[in-house]
Amino acid sequence: MTESSKHPETICLHAGYRADPATGSVAPPIYQTTSYQFRDTEHARALFGLEELGNIYTRIMNPTLDILEQRVAALEGGAAALAVSSGQAASAMAVQNIAQAGDNIVSSTDLYGGTYVLFNNTLRQMGIEVRFVDPADPEEFRRQSDERTRAWYAETLPNPRLQVFPIEEVARIGREEGIPLIVDNTAAPVICQPLQHGAAIVVYSATKYLGGHGTSVGGMIVDGGTFPWDKHAERFPLLNQPDSSYHGAVWTEAAKPLGPIAYALKARVTLLRDLGCAMSPFNAFLFLQGMETLPLRMREHCRNGQAVADFLEKHPQVTRVIYPTKQDETYYGRAKTHLKGGFGSLCGFELEGGAAAGRKFIDSLQLFYHVANIGDARSLAIHPATTTHSQLTEAEQEASGVSPGYVRLSIGLEHIDDILADLDQALKAAHS
Ligand SMILES: *Cc1c(COP(=O)(O)O)cnc(C)c1O
Repeated sequence: MTESSKHPETICLHAGYRADPATGSVAPPIYQTTSYQFRDTEHARALFGLEELGNIYTRIMNPTLDILEQRVAALEGGAAALAVSSGQAASAMAVQNIAQAGDNIVSSTDLYGGTYVLFNNTLRQMGIEVRFVDPADPEEFRRQSDERTRAWYAETLPNPRLQVFPIEEVARIGREEGIPLIVDNTAAPVICQPLQHGAAIVVYSATKYLGGHGTSVGGMIVDGGTFPWDKHAERFPLLNQPDSSYHGAVWTEAAKPLGPIAYALKARVTLLRDLGCAMSPFNAFLFLQGMETLPLRMREHCRNGQAVADFLEKHPQVTRVIYPTKQDETYYGRAKTHLKGGFGSLCGFELEGGAAAGRKFIDSLQLFYHVANIGDARSLAIHPATTTHSQLTEAEQEASGVSPGYVRLSIGLEHIDDILADLDQALKAAHS
């Protein structure tokens, strides 16, 4: 039985680790070290030459991070994973690993605000053009692509619209064209496995549900191991031509003895080496702690999320509820084929009175925290137009689904009666 054939509950407790060989410690040790003693000069030479995989320096690899990487790879059914310092680092590196100046990617417009700003500014300034398309028409990804297109990018369950992305359809078109789909699965761990729907690469902000307790910022990149980079050698020169930064290594060749991990290997030994956005071992330990209860928490997050959506739908002061099960058959249907075991804990709504009422509602909450975050064990709320999406123009806000009165909730693990009571009193206060 391979690790990824087990169930998520088991994977999240066991994958990648079984008692520390040196001490017998059952909890994963925090290897708080920068460097590792080489056995001898021959060992050091083999490690640097990638003839043998092993620890050199914590910017590139660390035993605590290695457990987390194996665990997330197993959960996704991927070939390998890479832990990095934040979700932003993960999405930037996922693109930079295969695209350089003069190249382009095609991305869904339904994006986390930070990713949109990264794509529309910093990547552009680096010479990587990002072409945005409305995900309502999957064929648009094909139409906007050319021979310099290196990837397609999307989020599984993007807020504020919470319309599940057509992973299956777009990934299939991408495979026809020889273009990999990168999916940000931050909002839907356990309930969606994008690789099983054809995605090539998965990225996470571990800051959210994976960690789950609002303590640490981190990111993950998962290499699905199924994309045939070498079949499309012209499209992926960074993986198929000699890399002058690593004594002429050709990554699709160098990875062969190690498994189908050319993408992950290159990201680790070139981008992580050069850009240095490494995760700290202590944060990796906290993410491992979080992951132990991830499937359990996701079940409860989803249950509470659905209950809040049902409550808001019936509330006289709420004009619109945004939740996957409250959408028309196109999106609800897609949610049912892509999500298993629940529909997430993000819920948006608009209330009578627009922006002013929205702000008064937020200011009246007592149990919910007012923060720019999602996926915490605690319930959270925010008014996107004046916060997370305020760097966007009004037209950009409108295009991304943020209306002036929109309120975003991330439903936590408190008792549902207490959650609903807080929402109810804040709704009353917003209209008093
Ligand atoms: C938070 C978030 C990110 C960015 O992650 P950080 O860990 O904050 O850098 C990326 N994508 C989504 C969907 C997010 O919610």
